[in-house]
Amino acid sequence: MKNVVLLGSTGSIGTSTIKVAQDLPDQIRLVGLAAGGNVELLAEKANLFKPRIVSIADEQLVPTLQNQLNGDIEICTSEEGLIRLATMPDADIVLIAIVGTAGLEPALAAIRAGKDIAVASKEILVMAGEIVMREAKQHGVKVLAVDSEHSAILQCLDGKPNDSIRSIWLTASGGPFRQTPAEKFKDITVEQALKHPSWVMGRKITIDSATMFNKGLEMIEARWLFDVEMARVKVVVHPQSVVHSFVEYVDGSMIAQMSTPDMCLPIQYALTYPERVASDRVQTCLASIGQLHFEEPDLDRFPALRLAGRAGETCGTMPAVFNAANEIAVEAFCERRLSFLGITELVEAVMDRHQTVTTPSLSQILSADQWARAEALKLVEETGAV
Ligand code: NDP
Repeated sequence: MKNVVLLGSTGSIGTSTIKVAQDLPDQIRLVGLAAGGNVELLAEKANLFKPRIVSIADEQLVPTLQNQLNGDIEICTSEEGLIRLATMPDADIVLIAIVGTAGLEPALAAIRAGKDIAVASKEILVMAGEIVMREAKQHGVKVLAVDSEHSAILQCLDGKPNDSIRSIWLTASGGPFRQTPAEKFKDITVEQALKHPSWVMGRKITIDSATMFNKGLEMIEARWLFDVEMARVKVVVHPQSVVHSFVEYVDGSMIAQMSTPDMCLPIQYALTYPERVASDRVQTCLASIGQLHFEEPDLDRFPALRLAGRAGETCGTMPAVFNAANEIAVEAFCERRLSFLGITELVEAVMDRHQTVTTPSLSQILSADQWARAEALKLVEETGAV
């Protein structure tokens, strides 16, 4: 039985994690749940699973939450609430599925308290991968991937040393615009970008899949999780999303992990690692899938991949800037203040203006994040809808 704290319990990953906990009542006990503002769903899940502590980001919602909870459940709020959950003495593992950067401090707090962490929030590793992995090593805890691609790599590596890796190949569905001609990109709307062909996910990550920033963030995430330099992290487009990623070994062998797309599988693997626990949820029939297709990503239509390579190679504070500028750009796109093409243009412009700090401290990373947000906002306001 593992005691699990779930940060971001009301989102897409949070909801899938709850399904996994329901599938495996003898293996997984939810001892802490956190949410942003969705009191109803948090209260419903808390009343079902009876965690010891719940946390809601918005302090003003505490009385509403109190009214809706049955039984003896402690309520926390804001950032301290997340830290309190992340360091709960009875937690074995903390799954972080908060969109954006709010999961970084709780992740570090969990590590310092000796907890394994399961990371869905890729921003954590993109911004502070070096610090997170170093602290995890110092405290002897595991950093387990929840992203399906990184879970696939973890499964394919199976403990092999990183000098046996020729390349890590991340597969990308290519998103809704894989076959859209370059000249149509300027007219892409928010509604079109929110229609992902193979995954149902939160809004931010769905837009990131359409621009391929998501894959760019994953490249940097992989670089830290598996301790390989950016040149060994590669991307191939695979629209069926059945091969979740693969490792190419130095002897030329490629080992892949496959299944029909369902986030419950990588979540379950992270929470039960290193065991494989029986579950009927995911069934894959290769004969009915028939064909698997692979193609080179088009860096001209999806320059986010090039920018990610640049950010990951530069390292220091640059990945945090890449991530923060993209968050602002996505928000501006969703508010129709920026065009689809403007997302990448804005991120590149902010990266060009950044003075990278090499080997930064956490506070320097957080300052770079704040600087990039302010700079990106300024550019959006100056230029209007790009
Ligand atoms: P959603 O937008 O669906 O959910 C975000 C969650 O974070 C919600 O539970 C939200 O609460 C909560 N939240 C937001 N701010 C705070 C805060 N300050 N304190 C506590 N909770 C907060 O996102 P996803 O589940 O799609 O993604 C979460 C992370 O996982 C992202 O980093 C994403 O990149 C990553 N990821 C997602 C995948 C997917 O399939 N969705 C796949 C791989 C990675 P509320 O709703 O109550 O406001």
